[in-house]
Amino acid sequence: MQTEYILGVPVDVLSYADIIDEVPYAIEENRQLCIASVNPQIVLEGNKFPDALQYIKSAQYRIPDGIGIVKASQWRNGAIKTRITGIDLMYRLLEVANEMEEKIFLYGAHPQVVEKAAHNIAKDYPHLEVAGYIDGYTTMSNKEIVQKINESKAQFLFVALGFPKQEQWLGEYAEELNATVLEDVGGSLDVISGSVKRAPKWMRKCHLEWLYRTIKQPKKIGRILKMPLFFWRVWREKEN
Ligand code: UDP
Repeated sequence: MQTEYILGVPVDVLSYADIIDEVPYAIEENRQLCIASVNPQIVLEGNKFPDALQYIKSAQYRIPDGIGIVKASQWRNGAIKTRITGIDLMYRLLEVANEMEEKIFLYGAHPQVVEKAAHNIAKDYPHLEVAGYIDGYTTMSNKEIVQKINESKAQFLFVALGFPKQEQWLGEYAEELNATVLEDVGGSLDVISGSVKRAPKWMRKCHLEWLYRTIKQPKKIGRILKMPLFFWRVWREKEN
């Protein structure tokens, strides 16, 4: 697998199938697969959170989660051609868990959100088992959280605490966790629960999901405003 570095942050050149096909082997061999999403916000702010960056650097798969990363790669004649979004990868992993009749665990999001997401997943993927969930505002200690996840015997763990919390948490506790597949999924549980709508298909096809999200969640405008800075830094790095 080829890796590109965008402002020092690694991103892998891969497809959904590269990850999905590996999952059954990893489960059989009890070999952990850590997945990290990389988007322009993370590239720009990564240096402020060295522990989150460390998780990304040591993860087995660093997915190009955003059209900004694809464009940055293209500018530098890189090989990343398409986005791999965190939520689409999560849906594919849920399909695998369903086919393998495995257990999954959700950690993160508001209490009603994670509960509804668990309910919807159980309904849509009837052969997997939602072995447990914990909201992202719990008063449980990290030790208790890890213990509850391990006791559930889930093979798939989805962590939805947003950047940089989810990467920091996974970086600190991945080694203690028995789950095989660990993914940082940002706001995916908000979408799966139905509390946040995903952009319509045509917008996703035109790579305008970021625009839809900004309209729906105006407090995210800061991320969009930083895009020129991201591209300027990528351009400067390319010129040097
Ligand atoms: N969140 C959480 N605990 C926290 C902070 C955030 O569980 O202390 C959740 C939040 O409720 C949301 C997700 O983390 O479900 C982050 O969503 P955001 O939209 O910020 O992530 P993005 O997908 O944009 O990275």
